[in-house]
Amino acid sequence: MKTLKTIDFKNKRALIRVDFNVPLDKTTYEINDDTRMRAAIPSIQYVIDQGGSVVLMSHLGRPKEGPDEKYSLNHIVDHLSKLMNKKVLFVEDCISQKAFDLSSSLPNGEILLLENLRFYKEEEKGDLSFAEKLSKHGDIYVNDAFGTAHRAHASTAIIANYFPNNKCFGFLMEAEIENIEKVLNNGEKPICAIIGGAKVSSKISIIEHLMDKVNSIIIGGGMAFTFIKAKGGEVGASLIEEDQLHKALQILEIAKEKNVKILLPIDCVIADRFDNNASKKTVDINQIPNSWMGLDISEKTIKLFNEEIMKSKTILWNGPMGVFEMDSFSFGTKSIALSLVEATKKEAFTLVGGGDSVSAINQYNLADQISYISTGGGAMLEYLEGIELPGIKAINQK
Ligand code: AMP
Repeated sequence: MKTLKTIDFKNKRALIRVDFNVPLDKTTYEINDDTRMRAAIPSIQYVIDQGGSVVLMSHLGRPKEGPDEKYSLNHIVDHLSKLMNKKVLFVEDCISQKAFDLSSSLPNGEILLLENLRFYKEEEKGDLSFAEKLSKHGDIYVNDAFGTAHRAHASTAIIANYFPNNKCFGFLMEAEIENIEKVLNNGEKPICAIIGGAKVSSKISIIEHLMDKVNSIIIGGGMAFTFIKAKGGEVGASLIEEDQLHKALQILEIAKEKNVKILLPIDCVIADRFDNNASKKTVDINQIPNSWMGLDISEKTIKLFNEEIMKSKTILWNGPMGVFEMDSFSFGTKSIALSLVEATKKEAFTLVGGGDSVSAINQYNLADQISYISTGGGAMLEYLEGIELPGIKAINQK
């Protein structure tokens, strides 16, 4: 792997693509969560410590028509300076003459942040000449933006063409790749994948790909009901994707052929409406009365899933087990989170990725008791589907 440590940064300008797409308060522009910024610090610090300088580029939000104060990276400069313990320079256009003047004369040890790349439509279009212009900001290209690694944008992939021999992954990208590979290709067996969330359709490709990689797959959340119905169960008003019923049966068949154990819920908490204060009760998963809906897994299922988790040496979790945003239906998701913590204590490797399971882990303050938490939602999901991410391919390519 081409990593930071394979390159000499002394007297060189590193052009680092980071993911500073942080949530900002709509009126004060205060940063609500700086996780993504903190994740990029080690790479920036490394280049500085090695005697080089750093030009940072990122996107922020989804500006529609050119520059927009709401999405200016100017809002994060002070905080970045605090995190780096030194004043970070900022330039209000990523390809202006002023930007090139600043980056070309940037002394070693200094950091320059360019304005939001997405103020130019060319960024998302993967425009070649825009990528070439950006490339002038550095001697070495570093990609440390795992969150956008699944996009073939100018700054995430196309730009690498201009650094055939001078490009590498940052520490965050390196960690993300290594940890996902620990599940997909280098994991200690037995390997268990826990897949939950709302829809089967959005996770089908992942389940199909995982079938060649893992020993068991636990299916929970809303998507489980399509499997239960496909097997002839009564699912009442639970979330169902009629057009996926056939696919669900196919998956169960393929799993049998490939000797992969599929675990579906056996009981669930049902509610008479989609509301935290709804009436609720526990029933067998395949006997849900009409007009009631399954919104969480229940005790017997939690026990079944927990046993499988505790038997496994490598565990991947994506997607909640129920509507965890509502207190009344969060018990299943929290229980699975605690099983993962327990498994981690017993030396299993645990990886949690994808927006909602990561927020669940954070909500329960368990992040530091899991082996690795992925920072990339969409990127991680595409990686799990077996897709070679453009941002990774661009660095690996000769
Ligand atoms: P996903 O983005 O596909 O991982 O889905 C996450 C969403 O699935 C969360 O907002 C959950 O509330 C929702 N979800 C999980 N279980 C259920 C369920 N049984 N019925 C409806 N929605 C669910």
